[in-house]
Amino acid sequence: MSELNNKMQGITLGLTPCPSCGKLSVHSDIHCKRCGKALVLRDYSSLHKSWALLITATILLFPANLYPITMLVNRGQIRHDTIFTGIVHLVESDMFPIAVILFTASILVPMLKIVGLTAYLIAISFRLPISKQKLMIGFHIIEWIGRWSMLDLFVISITAALVNMGQLLDAKPAPAATAFALVILLTQLAAKVLDTRLLWDRLESKDDANGNT
Ligand SMILES: [Zn+2]
Repeated sequence: MSELNNKMQGITLGLTPCPSCGKLSVHSDIHCKRCGKALVLRDYSSLHKSWALLITATILLFPANLYPITMLVNRGQIRHDTIFTGIVHLVESDMFPIAVILFTASILVPMLKIVGLTAYLIAISFRLPISKQKLMIGFHIIEWIGRWSMLDLFVISITAALVNMGQLLDAKPAPAATAFALVILLTQLAAKVLDTRLLWDRLESKDDANGNT
């Protein structure tokens, strides 16, 4: 029974869910009868879009880390900080908790997302023999990490608060800030545009067969 259920897909049953409202429709319907959204069986171009966004994000990661991200004016002295020197500066200034948050939001989360998404897209594109269950767990982990991108907003608000408190006299975003914002945006979009149903069309792997028994 479980083997039959595991192999049964909407596409073989002639059904497809609406991408907008989730209503199940038959293949012959071109538009959702409830909300009018166009129905697509599988968005094969989504894999290419996801790759393009991910590669662009990876390229932008270099200027985001190599160029200064903030410009601080303190007593007439201008100080440019990259993400890394900014973290070192915070540690030296005894602001360790903020340094940890900045490290997590600006280095750890974007890196993990890019590495995770690359591994995921490679597994789908090259049909690596990884079970569907494991790939789906991987995707949930990537999505979970993605939520932590919100930490950046937190860091920005803390920086603004520090400026207002007069600890840092004048802080302005430097060139890397735009690149960094784009890295976050593009990695989010790369995960968002991917049609995860492409995953279910893969051949059954050894692990999937074992899982069914
Ligand atoms: Zn609908």
